[in-house]
Amino acid sequence: MTVATHPGTKIHGDYIEQVMISVKAKNPAEPEFHQAVQEVFDSLRLVLAKHPEYQSARLLDRIVEPERVIMFRVPWFDDRGDIQVNRGFRIEMNSAIGPYKGGLRFHPSVNLGILKFLAFEQVFKNSLTTLPMGGGKGGSDFDPKGKSDNEVMRFCQSFMTELQRHIGPDTDVPAGDIGVGGREIGFLFGQYKRLRNEFTGVLTGKGLNWGGSLIRPEATGYGCVYFASEMLKTKKDSLEGKLCLVSGSGNVSQYTIEKLLDLGAKPVTVSDSNGVIYDPDGINREKLAFIIELKNVKRGRIRDYADQYKKAIFMPTDIKLEHNPIWNIKADCAFPSATQNEITAKDAANLIKNGIKLVAEGANMPSTLEATKLFLDAKVLYGPAKAANAGGVATSGLEMSQNSQRLSWTREEVDDRLHKIMIAIHRNCFETAEKYGTPGNLVNGANIGGFLKVANAMLDQGLV
Ligand code: NDP
Repeated sequence: MTVATHPGTKIHGDYIEQVMISVKAKNPAEPEFHQAVQEVFDSLRLVLAKHPEYQSARLLDRIVEPERVIMFRVPWFDDRGDIQVNRGFRIEMNSAIGPYKGGLRFHPSVNLGILKFLAFEQVFKNSLTTLPMGGGKGGSDFDPKGKSDNEVMRFCQSFMTELQRHIGPDTDVPAGDIGVGGREIGFLFGQYKRLRNEFTGVLTGKGLNWGGSLIRPEATGYGCVYFASEMLKTKKDSLEGKLCLVSGSGNVSQYTIEKLLDLGAKPVTVSDSNGVIYDPDGINREKLAFIIELKNVKRGRIRDYADQYKKAIFMPTDIKLEHNPIWNIKADCAFPSATQNEITAKDAANLIKNGIKLVAEGANMPSTLEATKLFLDAKVLYGPAKAANAGGVATSGLEMSQNSQRLSWTREEVDDRLHKIMIAIHRNCFETAEKYGTPGNLVNGANIGGFLKVANAMLDQGLV
């Protein structure tokens, strides 16, 4: 069944253009949201040409509008007894194919526009995983950096005191993202359980002793590398012996490096917001253990790596530069795994000049629209975030399945399912790109593949 506009209602002019203008007018000062929508819309031109029913049902006007936006005050006491106030958010973007699902980000840069871009991306990403999950995202402008464990706990408890009334295992299931790891998920889960008197799978990324899944911490990084392997296979190539640039040094970067080592590649960089480490000898397992201890336990800065390993070079961040030196190091593959828009047009040009073969995005929207276009034009194997980093949320979906069954699968079982899901996502993107006349363009493949399932579910469910 299709809900269409009144037969007499005509949409004049370019529908996509009109919706884009309206998105910018209704959501001013949200450039990241505009960017994410523009990228998807550019791909959807190919779909609307074949499927006028989406236009007559005004699918695009509906899909860019969050089903619900929740914004709230988060007051808490710091260790000195002073009152602090942060802002909390949850964007419940789309529930056409399942309960809202997506991470929570705690970072001072968090605002409504950033979370709306992330929630929008999440809708298509979750659809690609093949699992029944809608899209959402949330977080706060709280900065966990430099805070004591007690301060982080008090903040998380205050945040969850409000959030708990909006989420639930069949409604909305948040997870981690930047600044929200195992420690924060623990504090959030504890407060949810205390307030609701329910032990349910309301969050993913939980500890193994209390409902978590094996491989969830590793999943985004591992998944991104599995995806990169699939991309290389289409050129009868592999990661064996490849020199790899990895940015960031958090959850995604750490497990990207681990899987690259498993597959015989040589990662040579990590970074954080203060600068870049380049280790020409390669980051081996011992050095990775040092990074994990430094970032997850000591909560230190990546520059300490160069004190420990003397051949490594530390390049501090220079905000005056319009490019990042990490992307000017000669390598075969790049795995941006820190944050949005970390690869500018200049960075992309540097990577291409140095002969990069593959870019697989662990972070969300790490490349600007201009950078993406340069990669596609140069025929670099380019794995866009919503496909390449979908392993994290896919494994969150597997954690939800285990919670519903009240069972825990083995490490091998979860890893095997993750691997198969990443192979399936790649195949879907690859074949969809071909079907719509743009072979090898995984941006189109991911956007169209993710869109179709959600759009058809929205048509089936009527005007809601
Ligand atoms: P973490 O908080 O564990 O690590 C983030 C890393 O990126 C840190 O090294 C951090 O440096 C760096 N970083 C963050 N913001 C900036 C910035 N503005 N400029 C420079 N560096 C920055 O987060 P994750 O590893 O979980 O997330 C990384 C990316 O992957 C994000 O884009 C996230 O949305 C995406 N992602 C994460 C998933 C997951 O399962 N965790 C799933 C899918 C995508 P510093 O320590 O200085 O802050």
